[in-house]
Amino acid sequence: MFLAGKRALVTGSTSGIGLAIARALRAEGAEVVLNGFGAAEEIAALRDELGASHSAADLTDPAAIEAMMAAAGQVDILVNNAGMQHVAPVDEFPPAKWDQIIALNLSAAFHTMRLALPGMRARGWGRVINTASAHSLVASPFKSAYVAAKHGIAGLTKAAALEVAQHGVTVNAISPGYVWTPLVENQIPDTMTARGLTREQVINDVLLAKQPTKSFVQPEDVAALAVFLCREEARNVNGANWSMDGGWTAE
Ligand code: NAD
Repeated sequence: MFLAGKRALVTGSTSGIGLAIARALRAEGAEVVLNGFGAAEEIAALRDELGASHSAADLTDPAAIEAMMAAAGQVDILVNNAGMQHVAPVDEFPPAKWDQIIALNLSAAFHTMRLALPGMRARGWGRVINTASAHSLVASPFKSAYVAAKHGIAGLTKAAALEVAQHGVTVNAISPGYVWTPLVENQIPDTMTARGLTREQVINDVLLAKQPTKSFVQPEDVAALAVFLCREEARNVNGANWSMDGGWTAE
């Protein structure tokens, strides 16, 4: 329970990776503030499970982020995790979708950090963990906004890390490859139908084509790394972009 007395705000924590991180931080004693969309009864169940509060802030809206941060109060651990994807060629990419992805996957982290870092610096302790992606290091076609935002958050992570390095605060990114979340799992039946493939072919030849281990990262694996980054032993891990992609970006 080494995080007892710390408060963690995890964006996009009603599902997938963010939820796993929220659970893992709670298991180490942190007080958790959830954020993200979902059915009211499911969010209520998560609040009960984690003894957490919840903000429904739409993080594409800077004013909503300011309200969320004001309501959260002292934030010792900030996990910028909320994200979305859209797949289309550059010349067909809807400009509004570009703006939305940059706002959520990149600018939201700037806004939460600019509001959370002064308190962390003043208290002499803080952890910022940004869920980036293998796409912060390499590109795939048709994912221009996502790749641009994820490369951007890798740079934002480094710049902020340098600014707070002498104040007991670290800023790091975690870059997963394909993670087994409901989002990914739900794509499989449609992909089987669209491509005329078996479930195994979709998993191995489509989803895991770039992942040398041919296995999915589990949300709990990412969460375990996030917990490690909060430990005192990780105090000199700063400005890092830690891959957890089965070797994808080693090629
Ligand atoms: P997910 O869809 O399961 O969860 C996304 C979360 O973000 C949900 O809680 C959702 O409600 C929230 N969210 C969406 N739009 C929001 C908005 N406008 N404001 C506030 N919250 C919003 O996705 P996931 O797979 O758990 O992904 C989480 C993060 O991990 C994302 O940043 C994603 O880019 C990154 N990532 C995922 C994978 C993967 O394979 N699943 C791989 C690499 C990186």
